[in-house]
Amino acid sequence: LTRHLTSTDLLRDAGYVNGNWIGGNGAATFDVLDPATGERLATLPEMGAAETAAAIDSAYRAQPLWAARPAKDRSALLRKWHDLIIAHADELAAILTAEMGKPLAEARGEILYAASYVEWYAEEAKRINGETIPAPSPDRRMLVIKQPVGVVGTITPWNFPAAMIARKIAPALAVGCTVVSKPAEQTPLSAIALAVLAERAGIPAGAFNLVLGTDGPAIGKELCSNPKVRKISFTGSTEVGRILMRQCSDQIKKVSLELGGNAPFIVFDDADLDAAVEGAMVSKYRNAGQTCVCANRIYVQSGVYDAFAEKLAAKVSALSVGNGFDEGVTIGPLIEEAAIGKVEAHIADALAKGAKVVAGGRRIDGPGTFFEPTLLTDVTRDMTVAREETFGPLAPLFRFETVEDVIAQANDTEFGLAAYFYAGDLKKVWKVAEALEYGMVGINTGLISSEAAPFGGIKQSGIGREGSAHGADDYLELKYLCMGDV
Ligand code: ADP
Repeated sequence: LTRHLTSTDLLRDAGYVNGNWIGGNGAATFDVLDPATGERLATLPEMGAAETAAAIDSAYRAQPLWAARPAKDRSALLRKWHDLIIAHADELAAILTAEMGKPLAEARGEILYAASYVEWYAEEAKRINGETIPAPSPDRRMLVIKQPVGVVGTITPWNFPAAMIARKIAPALAVGCTVVSKPAEQTPLSAIALAVLAERAGIPAGAFNLVLGTDGPAIGKELCSNPKVRKISFTGSTEVGRILMRQCSDQIKKVSLELGGNAPFIVFDDADLDAAVEGAMVSKYRNAGQTCVCANRIYVQSGVYDAFAEKLAAKVSALSVGNGFDEGVTIGPLIEEAAIGKVEAHIADALAKGAKVVAGGRRIDGPGTFFEPTLLTDVTRDMTVAREETFGPLAPLFRFETVEDVIAQANDTEFGLAAYFYAGDLKKVWKVAEALEYGMVGINTGLISSEAAPFGGIKQSGIGREGSAHGADDYLELKYLCMGDV
C-alpha cells in the first residue's frame, strides 16, 4: 500500500454481500494501480456472474424489510452514513487520489459532493408523498402512492469513484430500494471504503451489496437478465449504455442512464471575458478533462477570439501537472494509457487539418500517465474533436460569427448532456438557453453540478435524472388506488 493509505482502516480486500466481506469464487484476482506511479495499491478478488447472483439474492431478501422500515429510520441511517463520510473525508480523499489520480484538494471536494447527495436523500426520504385526486364521480376516491421499484443494479465509472456511487445508492436506499453495486475496476477502493462506512452507520445487511471484478460484461449481463433486479442505473459510456438498455429490453427493466457528453462552451462578443476564461478553465481542465460535463468544444465569437485565446493560453500554461498528492498540483494523471492515446489521436487529426497548438500538446514521460494541458486554435468542424468526446486535458477553440450559426453547431451532435455559454444581453441569454438541446445549461458559469438540481442528459446522453426530488422519482413506481362504492 502507498504510504498515503497505510493508516486507513477503511479498506478491505473483498466484496460486500449480505453484510459479509467475501472473496471471489476461485483464486482469480485483479490489481488496482495508482495512475500517477503505476504502483500496485491492492489485489482484489475477481467476482463474476455467480457472485453477482448471490448479491442479488441478498438484496432481494433484504428489500421488503428495508422498505417496511419507517421513512424516518431510513433517513436517520443515511444521515449517519453522511456524518461518517464527512468525519473520514481526508481518508476517503486520499484513497480516491491514490486510485484515480485527481489532486487531493479536488478529491476532497468530490467526497464532500458525494456526501451532499447522501444528506439530501436522507432529508428527501421523509417526503415521498403521494397524491389524492378529486374523483369525477361521487362514489369514488382516487389516490396515488409511491413505492420503491425494488432491487437496483448500479454500474459506475472511474472518473468520480465516490460521487457516482453516492448519487445512485443514496436515493435508492432513501425510498426503500436495495442495491447491488459494481464500481469501475480501476477505482473499487473508494466504493469499498463507502461500504465500510455504510456498514458502520448501521445500514442493514443486504441493503447495499458490492460486487468487484474486471468482467463488466458478465456482471452487467447477470444484473440485466436476473428477474429479481427491477432497475439498472448506469453511468458511463454511451456505447455500454446501449448494450445495457438492449439487455434490459427483454424484461422491460427500468433504466437510468448517464452517458457521454460533448459539451459546447460558447463565448459571445459581449461576455465578461475574464469570467469566461475562468469558467472554461474549471469546465475543461477539472479532473484533467475527464468528466462527462467537461467543455469539449469551445466556440468563441470572432470579435473576442484572439483575446480569449491569449488569456486562456496563459492560464493553461500555468497549470501544474503532477502526482495528486503533491502540494500545488492542479492536474493529475489520466486514468490509463488508452486515455493518452485518444488525446494524442485528436491532436494529430486536428493538426493535420490546420489547427495550431498554443499550449501543451505532448505526453509527459512516465512513470504515470500524464499529459500536458493543451490548447488548440483554428479548429474547424471537419476535425475529430468537433464530434467525439476527448475525455482529456485538450481544449479546441472554434471561431463563429452569428448566434444562429453557433446554436446550429452546438446542437450538431447526438449528445445532449451539458452546455455552457457566456453572454451579457438578456434577450440573447434566453434565446440561446432555450435553443440549446441539452439537459443542463450553465449560463455565465462553468460549474453546474449540485445535489439540489436534476443532473442528466437528453438525446443519446441518457435517460433519467440524479439529484433533487426528481432523482428520487427515478427509484419509485406510482401506484394508482381507486376505491369504488364509497
Ligand atoms: P469508461 O470509458 O468511463 O470506462 P465504460 O462505459 O466503459 O466507461 O465503463 C463504465 C462502467 O461500465 C465500468 O464499471 C465498467 O466496468 C462497466 N462496463 C463496461 N462494459 C460493460 C458491459 N458490457 N456491461 C456492463 N458493464 C460494463
